[in-house]
Amino acid sequence: MTVNSVTNPSPNPVRGGACPVCETPIGHHGALCSSCRRPLPAIDAGPVLEVSDLEHTYGSGPTAVHALRGMSLRVQPGEVVLVVGPSGGGKTTALLSMGLLLTPSSGTVNHSGVETRAMTERQRSRQRLLGIGFVFQQFNLLEALTALENVTLPLRYAGVRTAPATARATRLLDDLGLAHRATSRPRELSGGEKQRVAVARALALAPRLILADEPTANLDSASGHQVAEHLVRAARHQRSGVVVVTHDTRLADAADRVLLLEDGRLRESSPSDPAGTRR
Ligand code: ADP
Ligand code: MG
Repeated sequence: MTVNSVTNPSPNPVRGGACPVCETPIGHHGALCSSCRRPLPAIDAGPVLEVSDLEHTYGSGPTAVHALRGMSLRVQPGEVVLVVGPSGGGKTTALLSMGLLLTPSSGTVNHSGVETRAMTERQRSRQRLLGIGFVFQQFNLLEALTALENVTLPLRYAGVRTAPATARATRLLDDLGLAHRATSRPRELSGGEKQRVAVARALALAPRLILADEPTANLDSASGHQVAEHLVRAARHQRSGVVVVTHDTRLADAADRVLLLEDGRLRESSPSDPAGTRR
């Protein structure tokens, strides 16, 4: 199955331009890049993410926790949205729902115009691999692999050939200032370096959506800023929409929009525009 059949019921494959992974000019309509074999995403001018009336309750009865109480959000290509809020406010629940790692109690999650609730588990896995890049607080790198191998892994899973996968991973590590760390294993890296490797891995397949859960929580202020800067610059460059959830309000400078998630509800954090959550 190709990503087009998963994410776009009426495929509108890439025309012209270049493959986002191997940068080979694309001159034909096809489900796979003929050079690196990355499944090509459809061109879609609409939002990369549209979440409507999301509600989620953990448990039931008197101990039920209403983590989300009607959250809506729309993210455009290349847009960086920061969702801040207190611990327990529902940030992780929201991110897991957007990332198809949790099925919310009600509401819809659309990825590039496609409703995800009807997807099979196999289609969801495929969408997580090709359509979403995740960055977690704990980095989640494989300890046995080098930085380069960690970044190459999703490319190989997606069927990208060895040479273009290695070239793409090398280029990303270089862009993130980690060229000299390519052969290091995670235990030899600082927290900031590990998180930049995780960012490179999230960017590897040029997913349309990047989701980050407290990406700077384990970092000192300077490395946190550096990671955020790299994430935002790279995501804008490849036109990925980004949602960062965090209680670290220092990241606000890097974002196009800052929203507040509190008690399972999302609102503009600016008191001058409290009306809605959409632009
Ligand atoms: P945040 O990431 O903003 O700290 P969470 O989404 O983790 O918020 O949690 C929102 C609420 O849901 C909290 O009250 C939390 O205790 C509760 N919660 C989160 N995960 C679970 C779970 N697996 N089971 C029960 N309650 C949960
Ligand atoms: Mg959390």
